[in-house]
Amino acid sequence: MAALEENPTSRGADMTGLLELRGVSKIYGDLHALSGVDLTVPSGEWLSIVGPSGSGKTTLMNIVGAMDKATEGTVVLDGMDLSEMRPKDLAAIRRNTVGLIFQKFHLIPHLSAVENVMVAQYYHSMPDEAEALDALEKVGLKDRASHLPAQLSGGEQQRVCIARALINYPKLILADEPTGNLDAANEQIVLDIFHSLHREGTTLIVVTHDLDVARQGQREIALDHGKVVRELRHA
Ligand code: ADP
Ligand code: MG
Repeated sequence: MAALEENPTSRGADMTGLLELRGVSKIYGDLHALSGVDLTVPSGEWLSIVGPSGSGKTTLMNIVGAMDKATEGTVVLDGMDLSEMRPKDLAAIRRNTVGLIFQKFHLIPHLSAVENVMVAQYYHSMPDEAEALDALEKVGLKDRASHLPAQLSGGEQQRVCIARALINYPKLILADEPTGNLDAANEQIVLDIFHSLHREGTTLIVVTHDLDVARQGQREIALDHGKVVRELRHA
């Protein structure tokens, strides 16, 4: 019976885990920023990650987003084992498979909104202004396309970042405190965008310390001292 309920060796189409972490640790000297994390994220899930400052949330996002390597353990994303990959192949994952949204906006100040979105295309394929405008339209900002970041509100800047993350139609969106700098109205706009991405089948992992934001996910895990200490499902 137990073998039917849990078979850690099965992987692939039947399990539809877009992301699988097994025994993932990140160790700095004697600090375990992550310590033996096991996590399966099915394709299409919206997963919230909560936990106190320093609990390893950003470390986890960086490893899943192919920006950092685990010290121990395996990370399989979309069938590819990131722990085994060379830097060149990790760069391809960052370009093609994941879309990254941060708390700090990281917009280039002297480029317009549409040009900031097009920066992501340079790494991917041919810059295509029409496609960048479509991405801005998705986040309700097509009429702000020629504005510079300084001419946009914080909420609008975050929506430009989301448009930039969406440009390559990533399977997985990683958002690290995406509403941390936003007021309630802009937080709601960002959540509405996440809900429509979720309806379209995009997999979302959202780090937040806002309990209302966390509750929007289908499942919530809590990290503490680099370990998953709690998991709950939302209705
Ligand atoms: P969170 O995002 O949950 O606030 P982080 O993942 O940023 O936590 O950090 C987890 C722990 O790892 C913290 O104790 C942090 O100081 C430590 N840490 C993160 N990056 C490094 C690094 N490059 N060198 C040493 N320690 C680090
Ligand atoms: Mg963090």
